Order: sequence, then C-alpha cells, then structure tokens
Amino acid sequence: MKPRALVTGGAGFIGSHLCERLLSEGYSVICVDDLSTGTSENIAHLEGHPDFEYIEHDVTLPLEVRSPLDEVYHFASPASPVDFERIPVEILKAGSSGTHNALEIARARGARFMLASTSEVYGDPLVHPQHEDYRGNVSTTGIRSVYDEAKRYAEAVTMAYHRRYGLDTRIVRIFNTYGPKMRPDDGRMIPNFISQALAGRPLTVYGEGAQTRSLQYVDDLVDGVLRLMKSREIRPVNIGNPVEYRVGEVAAMVIELSGSRGGIVNQPLPADDPRRRCPDISRAREVLGWEPRTPAGEGLEKTLRWFAGRAQ
Ligand code: UDP
Repeated sequence: MKPRALVTGGAGFIGSHLCERLLSEGYSVICVDDLSTGTSENIAHLEGHPDFEYIEHDVTLPLEVRSPLDEVYHFASPASPVDFERIPVEILKAGSSGTHNALEIARARGARFMLASTSEVYGDPLVHPQHEDYRGNVSTTGIRSVYDEAKRYAEAVTMAYHRRYGLDTRIVRIFNTYGPKMRPDDGRMIPNFISQALAGRPLTVYGEGAQTRSLQYVDDLVDGVLRLMKSREIRPVNIGNPVEYRVGEVAAMVIELSGSRGGIVNQPLPADDPRRRCPDISRAREVLGWEPRTPAGEGLEKTLRWFAGRAQ
C-alpha cells in the first residue's frame, strides 16, 4: 500500500511543491485548498495523476476524510505581510480553527501530523541567530500579530494534542522561502523584486534596505520537511538558510542576475518589520542531518527563469 498524505494549503506556493514531491516519493496525496491565496494553476499539472486528489475546501470549517491517512501536513495559511492587513481575521482562523480541524483529521485517522509554523513566532527577535529555545519578541496587537499569534496558538494546540491525545506531531518553523510558483502579486520581497526587474521597473526597497532576511530555496525546505516528518523529533525545528542578507543586497543580486536597468526606489518601512532574521539550524543539522544546499544565486536564477517564462 502506498503511504497516504493529506496536505492542507496544497495549492499554495509551498504546499504545491510538497504535493509534487510526495507524489514523486510514491505517496498518494489529498490536496485540500480553498484557493484564497493558492491557485489551481499550481496544481494543474497534477490533476489526472492517479494518486492525486484535490478537495476544494476551507480548512477553517470541519472536514471529514473517510479514507485512511498516514500523514497530515497543515500548510494552509495566508503568509504574505500584505495579507496581514487585507485578510487579518482569515489568518487568525487559519491558524486557530484551521489547525484544530487539521489536528482532528489526523486524530480521527491515526495519522502523523505536521504543523507549518514560522520564524514569525520569534517576532522582531532580540537574539541572533534564532534558536528554537528563544521565545521571541512579539507584539500581541501589532499588524503582524494576526499571523504571529495565530502560529503561536497553532504550536500550542499541536502540543496539546500531542500531550492530551498522544498524537504523533511535528512542528516545522519555516524561515523566508522563495522559488517558482510564488504569486507575482504576492507582495513579498522576492516576487516583488523579480516582477519589477522583469518589467524594467525600479525595485521597491522598504526603508534603507538594511533589515536582514535569509533566503531559502523551496526545494531545500521541502527536503527538510520530509526529513522532519520521518524523524522522531517532537520539538519545533527551524528550517531555513542561515546565510543572512540585507534587503538592499538582495535587490542588488536580482538586478545583477536579471540585467534590469530599472534601478531601486526606497519606500517607507512597514510597521513592525523585523530588523534581523536568521535561523540557527543546529537542531536540524543534528537530528535530521539536514542543511540547505542551494546558494542564493542559483535559486534566484531558477526563480527568475520561472517568472520570465510565466510572463510570456
Ligand atoms: N521588502 C522590500 N520590498 C518589497 C517587499 C518587501 O524591501 O517590495 C522587505 C520587507 O520590508 C522585509 C523583507 O523585504 O524587510 C522581507 O519581506 P517579505 O514581505 O518577503 O516577508 P517577511 O520576511 O517580512 O515576512
């Protein structure tokens, strides 16, 4: 029998890469998505695959799955900072009711459960790099609180199901990830910079561009996710690329790779924008034998090519 996985948010950027990889590893996959921020385009090539099933459903509403399941990946949530103001209540629901419902599916089917958490649980961190034991510096009322607190709640409810019901759980804390299939209008740094560069428009660098992020190529993330699911690690695990770049440096890389002549324009820094972010991945190295393999230049090149192909 093939192992069977359910992926919530399976038509999203990361979820669709995960579905694809699970299928190639011999799983049969149920993808659940309401297409609020995901797109059917992301999974169009999987439709018709004998081991792929798509269910259009909003995971904040209960879902009964009758078929046997081995693994549930809860990856459904809007995650772009532009969504924090656009659909704040939906984000809170995805992390709270959505996680609850996904946990219930796993519990009913006796499946292993993974929560896609985020580096946002560290807020605007005061400790660098961020180790999993760092408890964060999060505003409970700021613009980002809808995402940060939803994911902190999601981690808490995941651990409660583990302790109370013995559910076999995993928590992955995902740091900035990029790659093909991001929405060009997603609003995040990489899709913005690449779309702007390809259109010959100036790249919008917020603030002075001195804030830092690490850039993880999506294939590296999916590799870490699969290793974590197979491991016995219950504690949260950071999966991210530990090479830290200033946002201004990322803009310069995109300009260099694309040959754009549009230049850069500085725009106001959004409220609560974390000043520094960089994962400590010693736990992932130790317990999963994992580390990212794709250098930023290579990943950005692949992503640029995908965006360029799409624009035609
Ligand atoms: N950013 C930017 N220009 C953009 C979009 C984002 O300078 O067009 C900056 C943003 O202020 C942040 C970083 O890039 O410091 C990463 O932003 P993103 O929206 O990708 O996600 P975040 O890491 O903030 O959740």
